[in-house]
Amino acid sequence: MKLKNIFSLALISTCTQACETLLPCLKAGLSSAATISFKDQSTFLNESIRYAALYPPSFSAVVKVASAEDIAVAIKCAARTNTSFLATSARHGFSTTLTSIQNGLEIDTSYLNKIQVDADANELIVEGAVIFQDAVDDLYTAGKEISTGSCFCVGFVGATLGGGVGRLSGVHGLMIDSLLSVRIMLPNTTIVEASTDQNPELFWGLRGAGFNFGVILNATYRIYDQTPQGLHLNADFKFPISQAASYYGNLSEVAKAQPAPLAIITYFNFDPGLNETVITANAVYAGPESEGLAAVQFLVDQNPIQKNLTMVPWNQLLTASAFGATGPPLCIKGDRRAQWGVGVERLDVETYSQVAEKFVEMITKYPASKGSVVDMQLLPTQAVVAQPDDSTAYPWRNLISHINIQTLYTDNTTDDETTGYPRLMRDMLAKTAGTDDLQVYVSYSHGDESLESLFGAHKLPRLAALKKEIDPHGLFNAYHPLPTQYP
Ligand SMILES: Cc1cc2nc3c(=O)[nH]c(=O)nc-3n(C[C@H](O)[C@H](O)[C@H](O)COP(=O)(O)OP(=O)(O)OC[C@H]3O[C@@H](n4cnc5c(N)ncnc54)[C@H](O)[C@@H]3O)c2cc1C
Repeated sequence: MKLKNIFSLALISTCTQACETLLPCLKAGLSSAATISFKDQSTFLNESIRYAALYPPSFSAVVKVASAEDIAVAIKCAARTNTSFLATSARHGFSTTLTSIQNGLEIDTSYLNKIQVDADANELIVEGAVIFQDAVDDLYTAGKEISTGSCFCVGFVGATLGGGVGRLSGVHGLMIDSLLSVRIMLPNTTIVEASTDQNPELFWGLRGAGFNFGVILNATYRIYDQTPQGLHLNADFKFPISQAASYYGNLSEVAKAQPAPLAIITYFNFDPGLNETVITANAVYAGPESEGLAAVQFLVDQNPIQKNLTMVPWNQLLTASAFGATGPPLCIKGDRRAQWGVGVERLDVETYSQVAEKFVEMITKYPASKGSVVDMQLLPTQAVVAQPDDSTAYPWRNLISHINIQTLYTDNTTDDETTGYPRLMRDMLAKTAGTDDLQVYVSYSHGDESLESLFGAHKLPRLAALKKEIDPHGLFNAYHPLPTQYP
């Protein structure tokens, strides 16, 4: 059945030229379950609102697809009318590269959100737009678990495409390490399977640079029996920022022999309740309470201002952790946010103390940036480094921590107006990271980094050859694009 009666004549008459040519093409091909909204409709902005409103793409139209066939129609119409497009799921991706889409077409895949758990076969199948929390809930009910990211509303597949870092990486590796196969629509709209047996080169590239090759319709993952009783120790702490040196001194000792079930996420933030800048620490232990309490005792011993230690069911962790700060507050869309990432091989205590001072300086000088944070994810790496480096395109199995400088501005301030504090902090952290140059997990990058910093010089020749074969015309170039030739 074809799409009908969604567009009024008045709407068509106010369309830009791009949407006038796009509209008839979409209208002729899309199924009746798909919906389209155009720039001049009052609801339009809400349709395309993103987590990070700084450096956004702009769209003339958003098509909410209901099937693979709809995606093919949308891609073909965009190509035919020379309209750039972005396929989206949970809209949590951020990168300055997104601004390359201007007056484009958003292909919103959020209807594609089915989940299947096969507990006997130890497999999970998710459609391309499933979010973390929904998959985690279904797995938990089935007595299973998997590595996920740490925020409940991020796209499951979207996060996997960069690698997928999270708390269970010590036991189950990165998200890509559990990925068994995908069903993907390529830029030419053919649909193929990719796995270690079928299209293995594509499967290799998808695991680390996966935003470059098409739209994943569904993905199959290996899953694991859950931690006994499905319970994890969630330990939250707040320390005065003045303790930065001693806090990071202790953390750097723990990092030298971090237990596989222990993940520690720490960030500097201004705490409105305490009216001061604090270090917030969230330690999660995937195992028995007694072991977890022993593992986090070093934090209890540091005299926190506040603490909360609770055994939490795995499916509630994403909302409970960090005193609840990683739940709904991290899902609010439309705020003026930006992000800078740095990966490190070692923790340099002096640098963290200096960055803490810079952070306080920034939010004091620019109060509109008070909602910003500097977040350090010390995630265990045992199961990450157990995989050979060349098994996937993900280049940075050597990193022990990912640091994110996340700015949030409540007025029109921009990163440049803060005279570059975020960039300065990134440079300071990169200098003592123990890596040759800046190495960044691509999904935590800003968009201004070199290709080598994102994908690794050692992976780029193979990635460029794959890009040339699969997407020679660069249709999937809006988010961390690969070149078609390297060097
Ligand atoms: C608050 C927050 C917390 C985060 N936490 C983590 C974390 O713990 N671990 C981690 O690894 N990452 C994390 N990330 C980063 C996240 O993985 C990336 O931003 C990711 O790109 C988001 O994917 P999305 O589907 O939510 O976003 P979208 O903006 O919808 O998509 C981002 C990109 O992925 C592509 N994409 C999405 N779905 C598909 C698909 N099905 N097929 C093909 N391409 C697709 C889109 O085309 C787009 O280019 C976090 C991000 C935020 C904002």
